[in-house]
Amino acid sequence: MARRPSKHLRPARPLDTARFARREAKRSGCYLVRNIPAGHSSKTYTCPGCTKAIPAGMQHLVAWPEEPALGFDTGVEQRRHWHPHCWRLFR
Ligand SMILES: [Zn+2]
Repeated sequence: MARRPSKHLRPARPLDTARFARREAKRSGCYLVRNIPAGHSSKTYTCPGCTKAIPAGMQHLVAWPEEPALGFDTGVEQRRHWHPHCWRLFR
């Protein structure tokens, strides 16, 4: 399969979530992952790995698919917040 440059790395669309992201390969594809340090979130999120809450202010991470799914302009729109432990278990 031919590789094409990721939308998220193009300078034309500067997006804070993409700039500090790292790339991780999972069984379902490649994801971009960004750490959210403690004290940097003001909302409670639901972790898709364990369906439990990630309280506001807790250190966690955000991950989204490198290639957007059908119907999405960018993978960032599909970003989910994870407990670091749950993300490691996710394949
Ligand atoms: Zn979790």
